[in-house]
Amino acid sequence: MKCDVCKSKDAVILQPHTGRRLCKDCFIDDIRNRVKKEAEKEGLTKANKILLAVSGGKDSLTLADTLASFIDPKKLISFNIVEGIGGYNRSDQAKKLKKYLDDLGIELISTSFKKEVGFTLDDMVRSSHDKGLNISACTFCGGFRRKLINAAGREVKADLVATGHNLDDEAQTIVINLLRGDIKRLIRLGEIPVKLSDKFVLRVKPLRKIYEWETTMYAYYKGFEFQEVECPYISMKPTLRAKVRDLLYSLESKKPGSLLTIVEEFDKISEEYKRNSELKDLPKCKICGEPTSYGRDVCKNCELLIKSGLLNHQYLPMS
Ligand SMILES: [Zn+2]
Ligand SMILES: [Zn+2]
Repeated sequence: MKCDVCKSKDAVILQPHTGRRLCKDCFIDDIRNRVKKEAEKEGLTKANKILLAVSGGKDSLTLADTLASFIDPKKLISFNIVEGIGGYNRSDQAKKLKKYLDDLGIELISTSFKKEVGFTLDDMVRSSHDKGLNISACTFCGGFRRKLINAAGREVKADLVATGHNLDDEAQTIVINLLRGDIKRLIRLGEIPVKLSDKFVLRVKPLRKIYEWETTMYAYYKGFEFQEVECPYISMKPTLRAKVRDLLYSLESKKPGSLLTIVEEFDKISEEYKRNSELKDLPKCKICGEPTSYGRDVCKNCELLIKSGLLNHQYLPMS
């Protein structure tokens, strides 16, 4: 069977949401074009410096490779964080990541939780467990990753920070925030970022309209050997996300294109809301000075460290 686009090469992939059969080259072009379209809306093509949050997984490799196909790689700086998870943060994986980025002409800077926060993720999980708390590793990891990525973006004077979240992640996050009724967080998810603090570097997700299976196939066709070992903390992953993921997959299999529709329709609502409302600046954490959520005076990260006995401070977190 021939490719539906070029009509000459053999089709190797069926794209359920378009119903097209594509050859490898046309598939790669399709992904790059869709990433470019999103990147233009997000302001990436006009930025002078962009920090890419990379992990060595398929999404971050696809992110770096697609962006480098239409943005001067000298404007891109990649940033990797070693969380400090025994048996997971492997040095051979870090070397591979460095090589791929070198080949693309993208600089790589690295740091670790240990260096920036003082503790590895394993330390944080152990301490909170010793205190009898049931705080998931993903809660520590997500919060500190966000904080470090933002700080690195500020440090290199990036106009924007780009992360490798794909369409599956984005649709799940939208539905989770809807279920929680978290309107303010929801609105910030739209494709055009909102600046809510002078300490925030705007964060964008150029892959937010690319299915996860597509980032996997892209990385595979580009010959990337990516981190396939599952994070050992996966079993601690919040269960709501797992349930929403299963629900969305069953919807997608019955009606291909559903995830894309959720994100696109949500973007329209988000833009409409932003036009009609004034979003106040976020408050700053009394301890670390970083921006925190509305109604808080100590950020979630500092609160987690205090609760786990890793940080002594006179300020007690607001409940
Ligand atoms: Zn083709
Ligand atoms: Zn703080």
